[in-house]
Parts: sequence; C-alpha cells; structure tokens
Amino acid sequence: MSPKYDLDKIKFSVDQATFAKAVALYENHRVTKFENLYGNYSAVVLGSQPYQVRVSCSRYDEADCECYVGQNETLCKHMVAVAIYAIKKGKSLTDKDKKVFDQPVCSGRVDELTEKELEAIKGLITDSMKYIKPYNGPSRLWFSYQNSLTEGCNRLAKIVSELPVDQQTANILVDLLLRLDKKLTMGGVDDSDGTVGCFIEETVQVLKEYVELDSSCVVPFKKLIGRETCFGWEESLLKIIDKQKKWRNMQGYFNDDGQPVDMKAIEMPELCRKCRKYGAKDEEIICNLNRFDQQGETEIEHDFICGAFESKVK
Ligand SMILES: [Zn+2]
Repeated sequence: MSPKYDLDKIKFSVDQATFAKAVALYENHRVTKFENLYGNYSAVVLGSQPYQVRVSCSRYDEADCECYVGQNETLCKHMVAVAIYAIKKGKSLTDKDKKVFDQPVCSGRVDELTEKELEAIKGLITDSMKYIKPYNGPSRLWFSYQNSLTEGCNRLAKIVSELPVDQQTANILVDLLLRLDKKLTMGGVDDSDGTVGCFIEETVQVLKEYVELDSSCVVPFKKLIGRETCFGWEESLLKIIDKQKKWRNMQGYFNDDGQPVDMKAIEMPELCRKCRKYGAKDEEIICNLNRFDQQGETEIEHDFICGAFESKVK
C-alpha cells in the first residue's frame, strides 16, 4: 500500500531539525527490515540502538517508536525516517527533496511571470491558505492545529521564495499579506505561537528587497495606505512609499493644513518629458512622488534627479 502522504507533506509540517535527522538516518541506510503490514509500515531503525517503529499508511504522524521521544507520544526522527522510506522506497533523495522552506526569502531574480504562471501561483497560494484555518477544536488538538499553521506558512514560504521579482509578483505578495491579515483579525485564526505573524514580517522583508531590485515594486504598496493591520506590519512598507502624507496630498486630497493640493501645480521637469516612461500609468505614482519630493527646490529644471530615467531616444 502506498502512503497517503508525500514528501512535501512531511517537509512542510515537521520541524527542520527532526526532518534533517530523519534524512540522515534514511541516507545512512539506518531504516532496516521495512515491511508493509495491514495499513501500517513496520521497520527497525538503527539509532543509538535498534528501535522497532510503526507508521500508519494514512498519516505519517500516526506512529509508534520505542525511543524516549516516541514513548512520550511525540513525533521522532525514527518515525519520520520510516515515513520517508515508505515514500522513496530506498531511492536516493534529490537536493530538491531535501530542500526545506521555513521562511520566505527573496529569489533575487528579476523576471516576469506569464499570465498563465500568475494564475497558477494564485491557485497554489489559495491551496496553502487552507492550512491557515480558524481554531475551533478542544485544547488537546492545539498542537496539531499549530502544526497546520506551520505547514501552511511553510508551503507559502516555498511559493514566495521561488517567485521572480517584479511589480506583479510584488502585487501578489501584498494581496497575500492582506489575506493573512484578514484571517488573523477576523478569520478566527489563533496565532498565539506567532507563526503567521512571523511569516508576515518575513514577507515584508522580502518586499523591501523587491523594491531595491525593482523600484516599481513599490506601486502595489498603495493598497496598504489607510489600512489598519493586526500589528502594524504595513508601516515599514508605507515608509518606503516615502513621505506618505505628501503622496496623499499629491492624489488631490488634503495636505497637513487641510488645504487641497492641486496636482497640476506640480512642475513637470524637462527630464520627465524626455523619459520613455513619461505618461505611463504604472509608473505614475513613483514619478509623482519623485517630482513632488523635489518641488520648491531651486532650479528644478536643472537639478531634478531621477534614478529611473530612461531616454526616449536610443
Ligand atoms: Zn523514535
């Protein structure tokens, strides 16, 4: 009987240290006398001494082991090693098999996704979000509930870490953060262990790196203006939009003194007119920000600075 779980399931829900130790046991051929019996796998794992281990075919965490950890009804490395054996059947683990994602990182690769790829990513995100569910169970299910949150965040960490950097993927990340935030504030998710909160903070860091690699990634941050989030994670992103109030003023709202600001009164430097991006909608916010920022400075025509300038004339 084949296991009803795969390597991803184990990788995303077992803590990293236990997974690494289980991989070492597996790779050093410490899983012996493997047998498949009545919906269970049985094996002898050669640890500091031989341990008889049983793991269910339907759940890798429904298992017994003779070791100290296992006797305390805690998942141990021997159980995980047997579960890996059930999946890989003695075949070697690839680097990809062994790669774990316990936090989102920036891929550093500036590139675009196709429309199809974008849709696929959104689907994967939605699947992973299902693990980040409300808590309604009795307290004895607390640990398995926390594991589910961890699994969801680890699955998301993999998706995020493999994304190329551009404005569209920045947009996906901002949407993801807002969805997680909604789950924490209104969705009944009990994040007492801070798993989801930590994931949010790490993803905010990823977004900051995005902006360093591609300044237009700041554009989707606009969605965060005026939001009240669960622990103020959006603040550092709003700082990147820089001088948030000035930016709002530019949008034709009001300045600090309550005076409406006329967008048209903002000078358009000659440099902007010569730029390839002049008039491009998706660049407008950053361009306006840059222009607004330098208003009132002497000789804007000559002194205007823009790091994103690209000449129309090649
Ligand atoms: Zn054990």
